[in-house]
Amino acid sequence: MEKVCLISLGCSKNQVDSEVILGFLLQDGLVPVSRVEDADVVIVNTCAFIQEAVQESIGVILEVAKAKEKGTVNRLIVTGCLPQRYGEELACEIPGVDLWTGTGDFPQIPPWLKGGGPKVLIGRPLYLYDHQTPRVITATLHSAYVKISEGCSHPCTFCLIPQLRGEYRSRVMDSVIQEVKNLVAMGVVEVNLVAQDTTAYGTDLVEEGGLWRLLTELIGIRGLGWARVLYTYPHPSNFPSSLLEMIAREEKVCPYLDIPIQHVNDKILRRMGRRASGEEIKGLIYRIKSDYPEIHLRTTLMVGFPGEGEGEFKELFDFVQGAEFTHLGVFRYSPEEGTKAFRMKGKVSSKVAEERAAQIMELQQGISWRRNQGMVGSVIPVLVDEVSVEPDGFLQGRASFQAPEVDGVVYINNEGTAPRSGEIVGVKITEAGPYDLVGKIE
Ligand code: SF4
Repeated sequence: MEKVCLISLGCSKNQVDSEVILGFLLQDGLVPVSRVEDADVVIVNTCAFIQEAVQESIGVILEVAKAKEKGTVNRLIVTGCLPQRYGEELACEIPGVDLWTGTGDFPQIPPWLKGGGPKVLIGRPLYLYDHQTPRVITATLHSAYVKISEGCSHPCTFCLIPQLRGEYRSRVMDSVIQEVKNLVAMGVVEVNLVAQDTTAYGTDLVEEGGLWRLLTELIGIRGLGWARVLYTYPHPSNFPSSLLEMIAREEKVCPYLDIPIQHVNDKILRRMGRRASGEEIKGLIYRIKSDYPEIHLRTTLMVGFPGEGEGEFKELFDFVQGAEFTHLGVFRYSPEEGTKAFRMKGKVSSKVAEERAAQIMELQQGISWRRNQGMVGSVIPVLVDEVSVEPDGFLQGRASFQAPEVDGVVYINNEGTAPRSGEIVGVKITEAGPYDLVGKIE
């Protein structure tokens, strides 16, 4: 039996694709292995939305190509955003790859492995998986990402995703519900809903109600512990009170919203092609904070966008200072060929962008530390993930306001009790740092 090693790079949405690819291959009798040197077939599912990701993807491909040269690997397949972005150009430049497929073409990998075919299979990205598609959960057995739509139709001038992933298309609601039921039957406790824009879910479907209705259906699934909404789009119209009410008050929906605002200065937002003004974004954040204080907010910012001077940056800095997000990430603008922003005037040097990112991160560290200190003494529900490597003898888990991979964790002193991975337990917080919390099972 052929052995396959799949290397998944990039975001959680790519991870879902990787799990679907593995599902197809296992269905065909291939055996998964975790080390390249043990594999007959290696598949690299790539990321390419910024240059840093492109370089990482190419580095991994070249490493595997070396192993192939030594004869330990028979076939090397590269799929995902990198081939979709650069197409045939790459096939000429990187020898040693047997098959290149785009973001919508990976279902053709199994037939290609059996019968061969062209070396490059890159078409328009139209693929959308459903609940019947085989899928192998690779991270933990009790937490899974569920991709509720694919592609993006927003016109952000810095972003290549619409080109790499195609137009926004929602999965049929019944299919998402059925997938979550299947996952829960397999032992999944937490589902993290992902998309390029989860708040646009359903806008292209006949069914009404969108994200709110989907959540309403999901909380009715017996055995599901938590549903979390990631990657929303910051426009006030995307956050009706009914949705916020549900996120704030429904026990099975994590009181957590990931709203990547990018910026709050009007000039920069216009140049970025964002759909909301600074006032609308600020109003949205302050409305959630005042009317639904239970909801923890995560955001992502971009600094160093062309045209961002000291004044524009200060407006962003001041807003972060006042808004006090629970979690915050900052990216430096990366000029990407093929985007509108690539040719914009008013470039900001990478040194200045780096300094601005560092200033925001320093500010946020203080905010997060203060917020976390405020939790000492309280008892919060925590989903146990695994045994902690460091500190030794502890368990590691996440509160409902900590998403997997991107936010902090809770280290649990489990003296006398031994909960298993996937259990939600009450933990009394005893210590707090800027990112992580420490506590005892109550
Ligand atoms: S919303 Fe904007 S930044 Fe996000 S994927 Fe779509 S185009 Fe890119």
